[in-house]
Amino acid sequence: MSGESYIGRFAPSPTGPLHQGSVIAALASYLDARAAGGTWRLRIDDVDSGRARDDAAADILRTLETLGLHWDGPVQYQAPRRDHYQDALERLRDAGLAYPCACTRREIAAVASVGPAGMIYPGTCRDGLPAGRGARSWRFAMAPGELSFHDRHAGEQSLEPASCIGDFVIRRGDGLHAYHLAMAVDDGDLGVTDVVRGGDLLPATFPQLALQRSLDLPTPRYLHLPIAVGPGGHKLSKTNGAAPADLTDPGGTLMDALTFLGQAPPAEIAGAPVGEVLAWAVAHWRPAHIPRSSEVRV
Ligand code: GLU
Repeated sequence: MSGESYIGRFAPSPTGPLHQGSVIAALASYLDARAAGGTWRLRIDDVDSGRARDDAAADILRTLETLGLHWDGPVQYQAPRRDHYQDALERLRDAGLAYPCACTRREIAAVASVGPAGMIYPGTCRDGLPAGRGARSWRFAMAPGELSFHDRHAGEQSLEPASCIGDFVIRRGDGLHAYHLAMAVDDGDLGVTDVVRGGDLLPATFPQLALQRSLDLPTPRYLHLPIAVGPGGHKLSKTNGAAPADLTDPGGTLMDALTFLGQAPPAEIAGAPVGEVLAWAVAHWRPAHIPRSSEVRV
């Protein structure tokens, strides 16, 4: 793969400090880009301003720098890009692919079926708002037919979106654009060719694919990593209080992440500065050695 044709990115939400699971995702995405001679961008996914923590973005940047994971170009933030998301929403609306919805969660829960990713919207407002009701949110009108993609790690993935996901929200009742829309627009604008991220986001790929196709955006290649689970068997997550990545020994933190990723770093580089650990890891990056199981303990 030539360098020009590869643009990767790491896109953490600033909801807390990076934990070992996020370091693993950042490192895998960095190594995949660098081993391809490509570009590695950093995006702070702060579209959901209610969940963003003031100090978290600065803390994430510091953590990446301490680990030697230097990104290319300016950091992209979502919050100043709301006009782009609104433009995309309006394009979808004009194409008949987005519609306003008046339903409350309680109304939906009373009649909705439940799919693998939660409630499936029953389509009440698809053909127009009920008389006397105003729009709360905006939804994407999901077309019938199978959606599929090839995941570089997890293999072929496919799903019938109309019955498994349904018409999902692209602008919420509080006026904020939803993550799937922001992600599709941002990856498109950054020219991202390769997404390497945690396996917990694999299901999110389907709504994002549907949006990319409807907005005439290219679909990147995807590689979803095994999910990092803690000693209690729970997925490490910024919002469930996972411990911040250990920065007292940045090289050791990278070595642990490489071991998780099946890269078997040699004992000789233990204790080396992060630059040396990363140079070894780029030269020896073997995505095929990432463990096959969908969850791996850290
Ligand atoms: N911002 C998302 C998260 O932190 C990840 C986005 C992505 O990699 O697509 O969970």
